[in-house]
Amino acid sequence: MPVSYTKISLKALRHNLRLIRSTVPENVELMAILKSDGYGHGSIATLNIALEEGYSSAAVARVDEGIKLRQHGFNCPIYTLGLPLPYDMPAGVANDMIMPIDDTVDLKTMEAVAAVSNKEVKVMLTVDTGMNRLGIHLDKIPEFLKKLKRYPHLKLHGTFTHMATADEKDKTFAIAQLKEFEKALELLPKTKDFRISAANSAGILELPQSLYNLARPGIIMYGIYPSGDMKKNLDLQPVMSLISHCIHVQTLKKGETVGYGATYKAEHMMKTATIPIGYADGYPRSLSNKGYVLIGGKKRPIVGRICMDQLMVAVDDTVRTGDQVVLIGEQGNEKITIEEVAELAETIPYELMCIFKRIIRVYET
Ligand SMILES: *Cc1c(COP(=O)(O)O)cnc(C)c1O
Repeated sequence: MPVSYTKISLKALRHNLRLIRSTVPENVELMAILKSDGYGHGSIATLNIALEEGYSSAAVARVDEGIKLRQHGFNCPIYTLGLPLPYDMPAGVANDMIMPIDDTVDLKTMEAVAAVSNKEVKVMLTVDTGMNRLGIHLDKIPEFLKKLKRYPHLKLHGTFTHMATADEKDKTFAIAQLKEFEKALELLPKTKDFRISAANSAGILELPQSLYNLARPGIIMYGIYPSGDMKKNLDLQPVMSLISHCIHVQTLKKGETVGYGATYKAEHMMKTATIPIGYADGYPRSLSNKGYVLIGGKKRPIVGRICMDQLMVAVDDTVRTGDQVVLIGEQGNEKITIEEVAELAETIPYELMCIFKRIIRVYET
């Protein structure tokens, strides 16, 4: 085992995937959201299990993420969620990505790429109902559909929108977005296989009217709720832990300081342990003198500033070089959740999950 690693529990991952599949009505297809390498859990491992558990497609942010899946042999539908620039189109078409379009996408180039490749390219009309990130606005849809007819190689496969506040207690804005989406749907094909998608994890959990025929679970697959405002009525299991080991233990005399800036001063004789994880690994530097880890089943406070590759914690006489350190996850009867680490670092679990890029991933079956 490496000294520091993220542990991915494939058992918990399968449990969550199965739970979501059984919660969502059978006639609703599930698209596994795998952007940023499966939220840091590994897109390939996640998609393997998702397909076994009845998910029908995958989604990534960018064409290159989709190519990685294709190169690994996946032939399921792969959606890209970010709008394609002409630069992305040849690879997107060659690798059969289902790409989103709106009234700002260069359809002429996409059509030319598709025609040259002799391919029918599936596209999803992305509708902006209030997120104001990407997508067409309602009033532009009729004209756009006329224009789309000029591009015979582009096949309108479906439509999606994205909700800005579905994970908040107050659903007023989310419901208003869905109302706007309904108006868009009035203008769009009514065929049964036309894919309609609005639900992210929060929608799946608390807005059944957002499910339509294609839902897009992301963070709940990885066992974490989209926000602290959710009802938490699914038995989700966190999939990722962050593990390391003590590489050094030492004694400080009263008055000695720890780390850059000498921001921590020993009030009395004490022991510290050094852990080989730092901000270059993604562990937030804002947790300096604030965060804590588990060693020997006990919480140990981080002392001093977090370094690029290491951090120091206050320990007692029981701690030895080589002892296991849990930064996120369970140890003995204690646990540190990704939610509490995120809150302490003033971020969200989403950001932490996909940020531990330098750390090796170890799958646990
Ligand atoms: C990331 C993303 C999702 C999944 O969001 P979660 O909150 O993780 O479920 C769904 N749809 C789009 C367009 C996304 O970008």
